[in-house]
Amino acid sequence: MTANLLDFDLEGLAVFCEGMGEKRFRATQLFRWIHQRGMSNFDDMSDLAKSLREKLKVHAHVAPLPILSQQISKDGTIKWLFDVGAGDAVETVFIPEDDRGTLCVSSQAGCAVGCRFCSTGHQGFSRNLSTAEILAQLWFAEHFLRKHLHQTDRVISNVVMMGMGEPLQNYSALIPALQVMLDDHGYGLSRRRVTVSTSGVVPMIDRLAQDCPVALAVSLHAPSDALRDPLVPLNRKYPIDELLQACQRYLAHAPRDFITFEYCMLDGVNDQPEHARELIALVQRHARDGLRCKFNLIPFNPFPASGLLRSPPSRVQSFAKMLLDAGIVTTVRKTRGDDIDAACGQLAGDVKDRTRVQERIAQRRASPVIPIAPVSP
Ligand code: SF4
Repeated sequence: MTANLLDFDLEGLAVFCEGMGEKRFRATQLFRWIHQRGMSNFDDMSDLAKSLREKLKVHAHVAPLPILSQQISKDGTIKWLFDVGAGDAVETVFIPEDDRGTLCVSSQAGCAVGCRFCSTGHQGFSRNLSTAEILAQLWFAEHFLRKHLHQTDRVISNVVMMGMGEPLQNYSALIPALQVMLDDHGYGLSRRRVTVSTSGVVPMIDRLAQDCPVALAVSLHAPSDALRDPLVPLNRKYPIDELLQACQRYLAHAPRDFITFEYCMLDGVNDQPEHARELIALVQRHARDGLRCKFNLIPFNPFPASGLLRSPPSRVQSFAKMLLDAGIVTTVRKTRGDDIDAACGQLAGDVKDRTRVQERIAQRRASPVIPIAPVSP
């Protein structure tokens, strides 16, 4: 079995090259061909010695993930469904904005955390993705988008590990993937532009601070343990005070001087004035110990199994105003890709029905053409 080179950060690739009897610097050339130029065919890597290309053909490959579908929203959001084998699939979403292009990347097939408001959580956990499977999402999206948009420069300026899965429960695959995103010979993204979003795996937040301190977002969703326990079951293991103390410690290493707290607005559950008051008191208490944060209020995207509803926009605005009036930086997330179920918390809508995934795999095998389902404006 040959090695998938998407599995390596630059150091890993250097070790691989040495293992083939090559000089370490060859790894940099190879790495740039793969990640900066999107090449997978060794014969096209013209400045590599022919002898190296021959060795690579024997010992290595660059394997993209098979695409099951691609949907383009009327707002320009693009969602891909990738086949990761054994009936599992993961979703990746590109969100274009005026000043940035953000890719939302999955880290696991399914998720074991089981947050009540999350479609992926309801699907259950299947397995961790490998580094190659995490990076293949970025590798494909970046080079597809350059062609699609007729651009030679970088299209994806930001990566958020906010797709399917809890990235900090797939730590050993995550770290090399982050290193490739940050590497100047890879995607060259600054640490501020790569965000790991976690439901609150406290020990791994501390490890991330040491190993690869990128921007951190935390799915908070509630001001108290009593309310957060049923919404984010991991809270029973790592309660809010412990989590916020870890966030505070992270700030000493973080590329930004604040932590982003995600707060999904659920009608009648966590969106009342008393919840805002409790949240303000919580933040103020931890601010005294040095915690700096901003809030991102997310309109919930309902799905039947959740039994939850979206807060009315007026209530989201009142909640935001209470936080802002208390001096807490707060934004309300714009819903993107609603028409293709690409909005936050909706991923896995297609994945949880494995029969449909199997049907799509069969369709793709029957036709090498990627099915494209644009939504007309
Ligand atoms: S919100 Fe994140 S951690 Fe919670 S179930 Fe969904 S994917 Fe998992």
